Amino acid sequence: MIQAKSLLKFRGIKHFFLNSEESVSEEFDEVINSAFISEQVHGSRIQKTDSRTFYKDCDGLLCENKSTLLVKTADCLPVFFYSAHKKTVAAVHAGWRGLSKGIMTETIEIFRQMGIEAASLIAVIGPHIGSCCYQVSADLVNKFGKIIADTDFYQKKDSDYYLDLSAIARYQLQMAGVKAANIEDMQVCTCHNLEYASYRRTNSRERNISLISLL
Ligand SMILES: [Zn+2]
Repeated sequence: MIQAKSLLKFRGIKHFFLNSEESVSEEFDEVINSAFISEQVHGSRIQKTDSRTFYKDCDGLLCENKSTLLVKTADCLPVFFYSAHKKTVAAVHAGWRGLSKGIMTETIEIFRQMGIEAASLIAVIGPHIGSCCYQVSADLVNKFGKIIADTDFYQKKDSDYYLDLSAIARYQLQMAGVKAANIEDMQVCTCHNLEYASYRRTNSRERNISLISLL
């Protein structure tokens, strides 16, 4: 289990990024079973929570009440947001599809509609497939090249392309007004750290669970 420095300093929340074994261990059973989850459809829709625990057709949840949000991933990015000022958290699932559809911008927009400025938000990017392992097609690199002008979102080794999903997410967050200093990346690659579930490495249905609770 790993935790982000930038979130640990706040008393009003609790969060965990679990590896695949911890995700199925009894220790976290209770909190996992009571958590709010989104369907995770690789879209860009974010919803505010109400009394339901399951939210169809969206990839992120935002909550102002005492409850726990859960994201399941196996290479995609789990991203947490916290507004200390308005005691609000969000938990988002973002892969290349969600990022290409602007899910980071959509998340910031919902905060903004609630009167929470992007500059006041903390954002944490959890374990995901790093650019060390995420080989992709030239077409996918070109697709993002049209969305972001920055050239640091991929690496080229010989004739192969490696996409940096975190760099894309961080770029989009900063364009939406989040301060670079308020974005933390846990810098754990799910593909070459064997304790994490990785779809790219094993093609399995195992997942890493990430949890954030408002206390
Ligand atoms: Zn890696």
